[in-house]
Amino acid sequence: LDEVVKRFPVRDTLGRRAGAVHAVDGVSLAVEEGETLAIVGESGCGKSTLGRLMLNLISPDSGTVRFGGEDLARLSAGALRARRRHMQLIFQDPFASLDPRMTVEQAVAEPLRLHGIVPRSQERARVADLLSRVGLRPELARRWPHEFSGGQRQRIAIARALASQPKLIVGDEPVSALDVSVQAQVVNLLSDLIRDLGLTFVLISHDLGVVRHVADRVAVMYLGRIVEQGPAEDVLTDPRHPYTRALLAAVPGHGTKAPPIEGDVPSPISPPPGCRFHTRCPFVEDRCRVTVPLLSAAPHAVACHLDGRLPPPAPRPGRL
Ligand code: SF4
Ligand code: MG
Repeated sequence: LDEVVKRFPVRDTLGRRAGAVHAVDGVSLAVEEGETLAIVGESGCGKSTLGRLMLNLISPDSGTVRFGGEDLARLSAGALRARRRHMQLIFQDPFASLDPRMTVEQAVAEPLRLHGIVPRSQERARVADLLSRVGLRPELARRWPHEFSGGQRQRIAIARALASQPKLIVGDEPVSALDVSVQAQVVNLLSDLIRDLGLTFVLISHDLGVVRHVADRVAVMYLGRIVEQGPAEDVLTDPRHPYTRALLAAVPGHGTKAPPIEGDVPSPISPPPGCRFHTRCPFVEDRCRVTVPLLSAAPHAVACHLDGRLPPPAPRPGRL
């Protein structure tokens, strides 16, 4: 992605144009082949929009989205359709992503047929193979989605996503709708499959516990912009942006003793000037309210005037 901007118009109750949500505002981001990149942030920070831009499910207002070096905006409809097979989205809600009128076999076979992956005669065998890859018995193929639990449905959705032999999978909160007890199983399954098949994976999540397990790199978003990005290990153990630090502090059992994040996320319709985090940042200075901090150079980049030179975290009250 190169300097990508996406705004959604907002209308008032009379249908007049009342502004725009700055969902993604000048984001440049590269995902390397074979890596797992996690995009994290609170809800409404633009991470789902970013994922949909990557998959070309929506088009940017400005900026460029490339896949394998090709500018997707310049491809013909036919060429785009051919690329689509290589990019799959796994949704948050496994109940909404499967058609209740299709058996599991039909659901998984549909992309096989659509993209001409295997001849009809081999369809059934391929479906069985995909189901066993996601840990489901092939005998379940003739059942209906409503007969399965949330975790099993998400396995079916993963099998369906894998059917078209994608290169890139974007998972938008793929486990956050599931019971906590099955979240880890499904995340582990996904990360094993991604590794075994050599796929590129973009994991969109607000859950740093999930991210820690699977990500090679992490990009942290706040109000439509990337505020920090780098190797997962570095970002998660040595956060340089006050927002990342606050997010980590909010994870139960995490060692960072920063105070929990305070205040509400400002409206994305009229984001604060300067650093967008300045209304909530404990280290705010005058320049933060005026000047936009730019993302520093990779590999561990931060968009903050303090550039990672944060004062040590204050001890929590009641702790000595
Ligand atoms: Fe806080 Fe200023 Fe850094 Fe923004 S630029 S995160 S307000 S210190
Ligand atoms: Mg979302």
